[in-house]
Amino acid sequence: MKRSVAFKTLGCRLNQYETDALASEFNGGGYDVVDFNAPADVYVINTCTVTSQSDQKSRQAINKAARGGKNPVVVVTGCMAKQHRESLEAQDLITYVVENEHKTSIFPLVEAHYRKEILHPVHQTTDLFGYRSVDTSSRTRSFIKIQDGCDNLCTFCIIPFVRGLAVSRPVQDIVDNAVDVLKAGYKELVITGVNIGRYDSEGVGLDGLLSRIVALPGDFRVRISSIEPDGFTDAFFEMLEHPKVMPHLHLCLQSGSERVLRRMRRMYTAEQFMRMVERIRGRLPDFNFSTDMMVGFPGETEQDFEDSLAVCRQAAFSHIHTFKYSIRSGTRAERMDDQVPEPVKKERSAAVRALAESMKLRYLERWAGRDESMLVERIRDGRASGYGRHFIPLETDALGLAYNQVVPVRIEPLATDGAAVLHAKVRNSTMAIT
Ligand code: SF4
Repeated sequence: MKRSVAFKTLGCRLNQYETDALASEFNGGGYDVVDFNAPADVYVINTCTVTSQSDQKSRQAINKAARGGKNPVVVVTGCMAKQHRESLEAQDLITYVVENEHKTSIFPLVEAHYRKEILHPVHQTTDLFGYRSVDTSSRTRSFIKIQDGCDNLCTFCIIPFVRGLAVSRPVQDIVDNAVDVLKAGYKELVITGVNIGRYDSEGVGLDGLLSRIVALPGDFRVRISSIEPDGFTDAFFEMLEHPKVMPHLHLCLQSGSERVLRRMRRMYTAEQFMRMVERIRGRLPDFNFSTDMMVGFPGETEQDFEDSLAVCRQAAFSHIHTFKYSIRSGTRAERMDDQVPEPVKKERSAAVRALAESMKLRYLERWAGRDESMLVERIRDGRASGYGRHFIPLETDALGLAYNQVVPVRIEPLATDGAAVLHAKVRNSTMAIT
């Protein structure tokens, strides 16, 4: 009888990529990949530990998995597995705790388990990039992992401790991966990693890598996922104008206060951040910027917070992912004594969310009556939805459209209820463009 496996992913896109690759491997190995809420033989929880809230969500997912199937194999992996390995291993309901560097061994580990072989996760191969290419079973975008780890050591961040220092994947390996997924029919590649701006392999930086990827034949889109605003070269700025590179960056600001940025040990000033935004918008006025914003970093004053809001307004982000600072054990910020009270953090989060909502509507409004191309990612109830080049969410009549097709559309005015999706009409459904 076919075995089933269910995945739960928390946290970043890198985790998402790694889950997709693992799901493809289990799928190729004869398992049914089922919903996490369904009974399954194997549950894999790819955890996150970036905030205390992520820890909490990861623990909830583990408890849910343990109650899910009939005596299931429960595998806990991801950043929490590194940070809290001993306490997780002490829990009977967890079968294996697999740290990030051994994540590629999960499939052989589970197979060995069913053969009644006893393997220990730490004795498995250390391989950060040995994932198989994601197959077409899960989504229309294929994540491509180009690097792992980070050397920046921001004072609040646990990532360098749980993912390790920066390591870049060899160029040819990445290009081969891209060729594979394009052959499999993907129309969009998402470049991902922990700190992709620091990509450096055999003297090739992110700009050089991107130029090799866009030189591959075929009509496809390249999306750069979350990126730190430092180390951009002139060649990188130029790459952003390439027609295959999508005009959107999730550029992590974290704070708009120069003082807080210094205490966070970020590698840029708010002024430099704005210069980057302005340089890009000077060439590409509709360029979409989204960001991460941390509130309540130790010592953040009202004035610091106001400075952050001012930079957000100036940058006109279309989306702000805001989160409250929480102490991460072992980081430098843990030892800072001027912690911000929880109610103040809550208030500041709410203020950022309100500002983000109004800025999002403003960004979407500018698209009324204009042309975009949309990748059809879902068809349901006669409606097709997906994203435009600028990563704006679009929806249109599904008549004559197919999943994973890129279609030219004309965007309609934003609905008066401020819905987060823009309605559009297909311009000429027989013409597929990127
Ligand atoms: S750049 Fe800073 S916040 Fe980002 S992963 Fe590295 S240490 Fe963490």
